[in-house]
Amino acid sequence: MSIESKLPNVGTTIFTVMSQLAAEHNAINLGQGFPDFNPDERLISLTTEAMKNGHNQYPPMPGIASLRHAIATKISTLYGQHYNPDTEITVTAGATEALMISIQALVKPGDEVVVIEPMYDLYVPAIELAGGKPVLVQMTVPDTPEASYRIDWNKVEDALTEKTRLLILNTPHNPTGMTLNNADLDALENLLERSPFFVLSDEVYEHIIFENKPHLGMSSRPKLASRSIVVSSFGKTYHITGWKIGYCVAPSYLMKEIRKVHQFTVFTVTSPMQVALAQYAADESTFNGLASFYEEKRDYLAKGLASTKFVPYKSNSTFFLLANYKNLSHESESTFAKKLTIEHGVTVIPLSAFYMHPESKSANNHLVRFCFAKQPQTLDNALARLAVL
Ligand code: PMP
Ligand code: GLN
Repeated sequence: MSIESKLPNVGTTIFTVMSQLAAEHNAINLGQGFPDFNPDERLISLTTEAMKNGHNQYPPMPGIASLRHAIATKISTLYGQHYNPDTEITVTAGATEALMISIQALVKPGDEVVVIEPMYDLYVPAIELAGGKPVLVQMTVPDTPEASYRIDWNKVEDALTEKTRLLILNTPHNPTGMTLNNADLDALENLLERSPFFVLSDEVYEHIIFENKPHLGMSSRPKLASRSIVVSSFGKTYHITGWKIGYCVAPSYLMKEIRKVHQFTVFTVTSPMQVALAQYAADESTFNGLASFYEEKRDYLAKGLASTKFVPYKSNSTFFLLANYKNLSHESESTFAKKLTIEHGVTVIPLSAFYMHPESKSANNHLVRFCFAKQPQTLDNALARLAVL
């Protein structure tokens, strides 16, 4: 028996493929993005206390009130935008669910959705599932390893049509580490004034921006916030990717539609973790030091890679950096990444996996992504294996 697939071009996500390959070959996994250390003991204690105190049944559909209030307070303190916890904030099963339900709620068959390439692998399948058409705009590739990938807003403008429903942005950007600046926000505001599309902004790495730069997300300007859904994740901020808790915020007229999909996707999200996070996240010191914590790890890995044949690119954010392997091989990124795991015991993600056509020439620039959310020993072990190549 076989059925006509709704997603004929989709295989297993690259993160699972590479993690499985890493496990099979006992490789050090710097591929899939997850920390190899535990969250704060206090967060674990708050969670077990919440379980013991009886928070084990269904929480309210949009998330427990105290967590929604903590999210509202945090956003208004950091970015100045006031979201109503009752009508404009929903706690979700990771950013993944938030992105999926936002796209299902907003995109109708035939709608176009502009996506910036390279992109996180969920966006295009989610658009296709909704019957929408992805319209890809490639980022400008940096000339030197110190420069950053950038969004060309003229290209974004050219991609807009009367069918454009949504623009998906990701800032800070996985995998390039790009962050939006004020000129980017000006350009976006300008486009929103002229075209009636919405913005879905994936900001899961909002607290991991280096060199004391601010996070300029959609909540930092009222005009942008009024047309945007902003998505974030506790997984990245608190080293709990396996807990799968995130959230989205949006004006109530959008959130009303998103909640219709949320309630029939998961209904609600695990209760003890929500209770614990509501208490934990209310304390700013739990996320204030995250950027410098990861900046040190970025510098450590970049320095280590610079003494191998890899050429690291400067990452301005996230817990990833790109590195060029031209001095080692001219194979495609996916072939190189697999060989590195199988033959040399270090797992990375090919940058080409973040493109719609991973085997195309334009997606293959001899770049792979390293995750540095690791203990120093893990990075040392990986660097020792790479040093002999
Ligand atoms: N968006 C981006 C850009 C990500 O990198 C990730 C996961 N690393 C997600 C969304 C999904 O987040 P979550 O694990 O909270 O579902
Ligand atoms: N976002 C993570 C990454 O980029 C992976 C998440 C996943 O495996 N779904 O590596």
